[in-house]
Amino acid sequence: MSQDESESHSASESVEIALSSIPDDPKLDQAPGKYLAVFEIDGDAIIGKSVRDPKAGELGVQCWNRVVALIPKQYREGIVQFNIEAGRRWAGRFGGDGKNDVGRKGYKFSIAKYAADEEKNLSDAIRPVTARRGTLDWTIVHEMGHYICLKTDTIERFSRQFDAKPNMPVRREAPDDYPEDGSPVTDGGFVTSYAERTPGDEEVVETFTTFMTVDELPTNDSWAGRKIRFIGTVEGMAELREHVQAVGD
Ligand SMILES: [Zn+2]
Repeated sequence: MSQDESESHSASESVEIALSSIPDDPKLDQAPGKYLAVFEIDGDAIIGKSVRDPKAGELGVQCWNRVVALIPKQYREGIVQFNIEAGRRWAGRFGGDGKNDVGRKGYKFSIAKYAADEEKNLSDAIRPVTARRGTLDWTIVHEMGHYICLKTDTIERFSRQFDAKPNMPVRREAPDDYPEDGSPVTDGGFVTSYAERTPGDEEVVETFTTFMTVDELPTNDSWAGRKIRFIGTVEGMAELREHVQAVGD
């Protein structure tokens, strides 16, 4: 499908939510203390909250607006909880255990407070996507990628396509030749240092994030180029890429 009027129109619409308009939900108070703000999600809407840190609450609403702008809801229907998390160990996390903190079936994901706080244009939900590791956009697309790749069997399919193939580049434990602020790369063996160091889900999700965010898909014959293009063969992925690329146009 080509990029048409309706595609960019839907990308420019977002539901702006005010923190004060979201009802407090005492049930969410049971969620672990590492979550500085807890939001129950239904589609695009935040239907309840437990805010332990007011600043995290504000950041959380702005982050959620960005999630809504980047990823259409049909790609994240199983997400029932979104959190702003304390600490610096992870920029984001996806909870794959299949339920939220009040027992509702579905998945939760979290963004670290520091990662949201470092995003300069956080209040502008409709901005062009940033294809760079370490940014909030990268973290959001990566964490949503865990869910989308799980639902579409992409982890398994990628592994069948690329694991144990002859001439596969050998993984290094501590590669130090990826560009600090220019990653991902679209030529070579792997898209990022993290992808090279971490086989399985993480490599697939890093490759997914590269496919969705880079403004031009590679045409080269490298393993990284082939892996990136492989993501586009999974149903729904090319359409999602068009949507992500059209945000902010
Ligand atoms: Zn991950």
